[in-house]
Amino acid sequence: MTVKHVLEAHLLTKTYQAADRPLTVLDAVSFQVEQGNSLAIIGPSGSGKTTLLGLCAGLDVPTSGTLSLMGFKLNNMSEDDRAYLRNQYVGFVFQNFQLLATLTALENVMVPLELRGERNVASKAKELLERVGLKDRMHHYPTQLSGGEQQRVAMARAFITSPKILFADEPTGNLDEENASHITDLLFGMNREQQTTLVLVTHNLELAKMTQRILRMKGGKLIEDTINE
Ligand code: ADP
Repeated sequence: MTVKHVLEAHLLTKTYQAADRPLTVLDAVSFQVEQGNSLAIIGPSGSGKTTLLGLCAGLDVPTSGTLSLMGFKLNNMSEDDRAYLRNQYVGFVFQNFQLLATLTALENVMVPLELRGERNVASKAKELLERVGLKDRMHHYPTQLSGGEQQRVAMARAFITSPKILFADEPTGNLDEENASHITDLLFGMNREQQTTLVLVTHNLELAKMTQRILRMKGGKLIEDTINE
């Protein structure tokens, strides 16, 4: 499926009900992303980056404003329909990986395809784990893996469906330089080879400069939208 904009956010706003008053953490954010682009969302802690990423990936719903993912309007969509859409088109790498503790690395990577009802998916999962350098760790459980290894399992799990758009929250956060550069190579390799659109939240300016475009957030607002040279 081909659409011009894989993502269209229009006046996206998120307000949480804090103890004593409503708190608007995302304030009328609008932008569009074309297929195959790579972009970084930067800004200080608490500026709304993670909230924005979650809304764009259909993990949460906005208080107001509209969002289209792959041409589908997410507003008013049921949770089941959003989950289906995510499974079809989206890969998401969480800041804390969110691997399932009771499953091995291999089983974790197989989950998105099993959710699609596919069978015999182990060979594809093994191939991806090899690609991320975890051939020897396939049968390990998350607690038996280092942070960098868990991050790579999370990456393989996000890649296995060949998503049209990959969201990653601080993909190089908490990783040493070698692991960070491995993850960066994987992300941009995916972007080049499969035209996977990348939307990354990061504090890592080196990583942000490798993308085609940078969105800068401050106090819940999108204050700058620049194309990288
Ligand atoms: P960033 O990723 O830029 O650090 P976040 O999107 O995580 O920012 O958070 C933005 C603001 O929203 C923060 O002030 C945070 O405390 C608040 N926030 C995030 N999630 C919730 C929630 N579920 N309920 C209330 N406030 C929240």
